[in-house]
Amino acid sequence: MTKFKNTINVVVPGEPDSSYPIHIGAGFLAALWAAIQTQWPNHKPFVVTDENLVRAGLVQQLLDGRMAPMFSITPPGESSKHIGTVTAIVEEMEKAFLGRDSLVIALGGGTVGDIAGFAAAIFKRGVPVVQIPTTTVAQADSSVGGKTGVDSSLSKNAFGCFWHPAAVYIDVETLATLDDRQYRAGLVESVKHAAIADAEYFDYLEKNIEPLLSCDTAVLEHIASENCRIKAAVVAEDPTEQNKRRILNYGHTLGHAVETASAFSLLHGEAVAAGMIAAGMLEDAMGLVKDERLSRLRRLLEQLGQPTRIPKAISKAALIDLLKRDKKAVGQWPRFVLLEQLGRTLCKESQWAHEVAPEAVETVIEALV
Ligand code: NAD
Repeated sequence: MTKFKNTINVVVPGEPDSSYPIHIGAGFLAALWAAIQTQWPNHKPFVVTDENLVRAGLVQQLLDGRMAPMFSITPPGESSKHIGTVTAIVEEMEKAFLGRDSLVIALGGGTVGDIAGFAAAIFKRGVPVVQIPTTTVAQADSSVGGKTGVDSSLSKNAFGCFWHPAAVYIDVETLATLDDRQYRAGLVESVKHAAIADAEYFDYLEKNIEPLLSCDTAVLEHIASENCRIKAAVVAEDPTEQNKRRILNYGHTLGHAVETASAFSLLHGEAVAAGMIAAGMLEDAMGLVKDERLSRLRRLLEQLGQPTRIPKAISKAALIDLLKRDKKAVGQWPRFVLLEQLGRTLCKESQWAHEVAPEAVETVIEALV
């Protein structure tokens, strides 16, 4: 099997003796099945994927002519991320006579990973899951950290639990078949990681825009390593999001509101791009930082083809209403993650998310619409 470019070991939070590897490389998908069977010889694999991965030929590459029990999520995407899909997966596993010796293999983006991880967590009180992320969002973010779950009819991720993967395999070549808009929007999570934690990584992204946009293998391997390193370190410090893990929500407070108010016509990353600009403007308004980071952030996001303004069709009133309903709101108003400089998040009185006056947020929204 091809050697991986990099392997990052993630200690499972709260269980110092337990860890899982994130293997990063390019072009190993066709050799992966044999490697998984060698690694878990006594487990019976069950593949969870979606029909776009079948259409893109990635499921066939993984199986390489073998037969395996499988569930292909239809339709792909968020609309299938509900408890009914989890029930269908569990029942399919039962029909295949699988037991506690099964191994769920999640091949796909964040929706497949979240659904498959949750199904693995509850099947026979928990079986291991291997994550093979195939989107820029999943390779940067969702496959690491152990959050799994599905939506209810009222809210996102209403059902869920922490269920850490047994291993993550990031083959950056799988991104070649991803739709360009999805590909670019997913890169926003990489920009976020750099902005909150590593100014050198931010420099790297700025210097590598062209190879990044043309799916250069070495650049994709590098950013996968940086993203996983940063996310794993944050999660290790605060596994259940009591405090520091909130920094991963940089740009997400207003971003979530913009995403919802756009009736999901904006992709998550696109809405977060506008949310990060809003956070940067709040930092300026509060006099927190006086550097070039906001103009650099705006330029980088624009080069990635991401919106740096809020669509005109979205009203300020709608956004304020959504912010008041934010699930992390305290007294009907959310706290904001802010930077103190590029690559460093503001921590004040041991808190990583901060009170910001509603008037300041309204002014920023008015300037951005
Ligand atoms: P997604 O999984 O819906 O994938 C986007 C689209 O791309 C889908 O239509 C999918 O079928 C298709 N696709 C995926 N890989 C492909 C490939 N290589 N080639 C061709 N088509 C491909 O979306 P996503 O952006 O990857 O994930 C979004 C989900 O991730 C959301 O539900 C979000 O809540 C979740 N998420 C979870 C975490 C976490 O920590 N668990 C973090 C961030 C996001």
